Amino acid sequence: MTYDPANIFAKILKGELPCHKVHEDENALVMMDIFPQSKGHTLLIPKAASRNLLDADPATLSSVMPLVQRVARAVKAATNADGVRLAQFNEAPAGQTVFHLHFHIIPVYDGVALGA
Ligand code: 5GP
Repeated sequence: MTYDPANIFAKILKGELPCHKVHEDENALVMMDIFPQSKGHTLLIPKAASRNLLDADPATLSSVMPLVQRVARAVKAATNADGVRLAQFNEAPAGQTVFHLHFHIIPVYDGVALGA
């Protein structure tokens, strides 16, 4: 499987499509999910061009995982959620719909993540 540079998240990273951005640094962009699974569902998108975890450069993962932790902590604090689910899907049969590596940070309220 190859990386398609015309995917939606690549366009958002280039500023060609809008998003509700909550953070950006040299390694990643963090934005609100357009179809949230719960209140505060956030996406972290590494800037490096990878289709998903399977083809990602380990250096990319090293650079963004501390931010994943920071975002998870911040989302939990901001939403007063009871927990936070980290989700990440690789290829369509596994549930991936946008083929640029990304991490879901999903607040969970009393064990229920669905139903924003
Ligand atoms: P996947 O199943 O690929 O892991 O999830 C892709 C996620 O991206 C979904 O939760 C979907 O709601 C979200 N999404 C798809 N298109 C857009 C968009 O244009 N903007 C934002 N903010 N989220 C999107």
